[in-house]
Amino acid sequence: MNTVRICHLYPGELNIYADRGNIAVLRRRLEWRGHRLDVHEVGVGARIPDDADMYYLGGGQDRDQIVVAGDLATTKADALHRAVADGSVILAVCGGYQLAGHGYTGVDGTRMPGIGLLDADTTAGPTRLIGDVVITVEVAGAPLTVVGFENHAGRTTLGPGSVPFGTVRHGHGNNDMDGTEGAMTNRAIGTYLHGPLLPKNPQLADLLLGWALEHATGAQVPLAPLDDALERQAHRAAIARVRERGSA
Ligand code: GLN
Repeated sequence: MNTVRICHLYPGELNIYADRGNIAVLRRRLEWRGHRLDVHEVGVGARIPDDADMYYLGGGQDRDQIVVAGDLATTKADALHRAVADGSVILAVCGGYQLAGHGYTGVDGTRMPGIGLLDADTTAGPTRLIGDVVITVEVAGAPLTVVGFENHAGRTTLGPGSVPFGTVRHGHGNNDMDGTEGAMTNRAIGTYLHGPLLPKNPQLADLLLGWALEHATGAQVPLAPLDDALERQAHRAAIARVRERGSA
């Protein structure tokens, strides 16, 4: 049995679209294989260890992001930078993704500085980008189709220090212009996909768990296959819904 240690950052401030469901998925998929997840919830003002196996940031409204932006830089940025350099896994969704980049200029013009884990910068546009998303992700060896839901004002552009997390097949993605979705540097991933992300994308959940277990143990830990019939059905239903509406 191995234990994966995850820091869930700002569970009170960054939790829209049931983003904390991602933590539940990670926990159950570990437990079904005889491992365990140790969740350390960390709010405003608290410091974090730099040796957790995984860090998680959910999405949030602009007003919640303002609070988080001020705190991230002062109490958490240094540890997160050391962690990413050391191969820890970061998953940052939507509002969390924007702040994991260089920053977000919100709907009312407020600049919320980010911490530059990802080479990405975001500015709110005049409309919200909303709807189902289907992307192709290339990090797992073979291309992986990932589904989710987006709702953001922010338009994100990437610099050379990050690669896109995925290529948009349906939906808006980073900016509705260049076909990219999310950003990745080392094992730090930012994405606009809510849903929450992991219940309908079990292969992605296992990819992240594999990385986290590798960080925890220093070795690759094989993950026994699970009965993912329900998860696959939910995944297929999301793609079918998009197809019915005429694309992807
Ligand atoms: N407030 C940000 C935006 O509108 C992030 C929204 C979110 O996390 N869904 O772009």
